[in-house]
Parts: sequence; C-alpha cells; structure tokens
Amino acid sequence: MKNRAIVLFAVVTLLPASMLGMTRSRSRAAKSKPAHLKATRASRQRLRLARLRALILASPVHGTRESLLHQNQMITEEQLERIQTDDELQQLILAESLVRLPETRDLGVAQNLPEERRYCRPWTRDFVVDFAHERWEKFRRPTLVTSAVRTAEFQHKLMRYNHNAAAESGELASPHLSGATIDIGKRGMSRAEIKWARDYLLALQNQGFLDVEEEFRQSVFHISVYRRYDTLGADVSLADASAVPAEAAPKPAAALPAVPDPPRN
Ligand SMILES: [Zn+2]
Repeated sequence: MKNRAIVLFAVVTLLPASMLGMTRSRSRAAKSKPAHLKATRASRQRLRLARLRALILASPVHGTRESLLHQNQMITEEQLERIQTDDELQQLILAESLVRLPETRDLGVAQNLPEERRYCRPWTRDFVVDFAHERWEKFRRPTLVTSAVRTAEFQHKLMRYNHNAAAESGELASPHLSGATIDIGKRGMSRAEIKWARDYLLALQNQGFLDVEEEFRQSVFHISVYRRYDTLGADVSLADASAVPAEAAPKPAAALPAVPDPPRN
C-alpha cells in the first residue's frame, strides 16, 4: 500500500511537468507553424532514409525494376529463345541447348520441381556447379535449386496464383523463360552463408557475369547467368581467383565482350 502511494505521488508530481512541456511546445509550434512542419518532415525523412539505408545494407543485391529490364535486355542481346510451350522446351532439351541440372552431394533440385523444368543453359549449370562447390568447401552445406527453366504457358498460370510473379512477355517478362535463370533457395542458410552468398554473387554481378536479385517473399536468390560466364577461366581481373574452376577451358581474353552495365542494386 505504501509503495502504491509513492508511485501515485510520483505520477501526480511528474504529470503536470510533462503536460506543461507539451503545452509549451505546442504553443511554440502554433506560432511558427511552417518551421514546425518542416522539422517534422525533416525528421520523418531522416527516419525514412535511415530505414532505407538499413534495408539496402541488409541486401546489397535486392531486386529492382532496372535489374529485371537489364536481364531481359541481355536475353535479347544473347539471342536466347523465350520458351513458349512444352514442345519448344522439349526441342531445346533434345538439341542440348538446355542441359539437366546435375544432382550431387553439393547440389540438389527441389523435390517439387517437375522433371521437364530441371533444365537450364549450359553456362548457368556451370555457374551453379561452381557456386555449390565453393559453398560446400566453405560450409559443408548443399545448394538447392528451387526453380530453373519455365515456359510462357507455365508463367501465365503462375501469375494467376502468385501476384508477385513476373509477366510471361514484354520487357519485364520473367527471365526464367530463357533457361539462363535459376533460383537458389535461402531457406536454412545461416547468416554467415547469406553474407558469403551475397558477396560471391555481387562480385560476379559487378564483373558482368550475371544479375542477381535477392528475394524475400520467395526466400531465394534469383540469378540470370550470361554466356560470358564461359570465359571466366580466362578472366584474371576477378578478385577471387579461387572461384575459377581449374577444368574450365579458357578462351582468349580479347574475345571477352565489354562489361554490359555498371553494377546496380
Ligand atoms: Zn527467379
């Protein structure tokens, strides 16, 4: 009872002071309204910018409209088909323009991925084999591909259920239609693995070998790999030379195309 009385006393004595303070600041604000509004706007902007910076820092490779546009530009430049139907998909598999994702100790494919969609472009396979190898060497953890080639037919169905899914045509179409794009699952990755993956992928993006978008709704790294990944064996400018596979057949450095675009986030 005694304690409660002390608390009540404290509340009663403190309350007028804080209320007075509020009244004072209010009346001051009323006198100079524009300045007050300006201060609020400025502080809101500071908060907004701080949160934005935290988000960007959290993922240096988050997706943007520009990234999706660039992936589609590259698919057009590299003259890759945007696969429309299952028939077209089968033809590209028969012609070995699309290759099957290997399943090894380091690398797996999501169980729910249908047989005919476990394919990608050869250089995309090389990239993911290297990624899985490097991750295994460092963390002793396997890499899981959750999505690879898609047809426009399938993408159209996906859009009906998943409003976040990219279109099946146009300049913002899903890059998965080309077969050069895969998603690597983040589920189960430790903080250290996520950081390592971001650094690894960002380094390759900065060198123009791929574009990466870290997705949070699907919890994947969405990665479009470009033909020039084949030439990585000859590229000594890449900071992490350990990522270069020893068995890759190097091509003359002069054959390297120019780096497409400055890195974007
Ligand atoms: Zn994707």
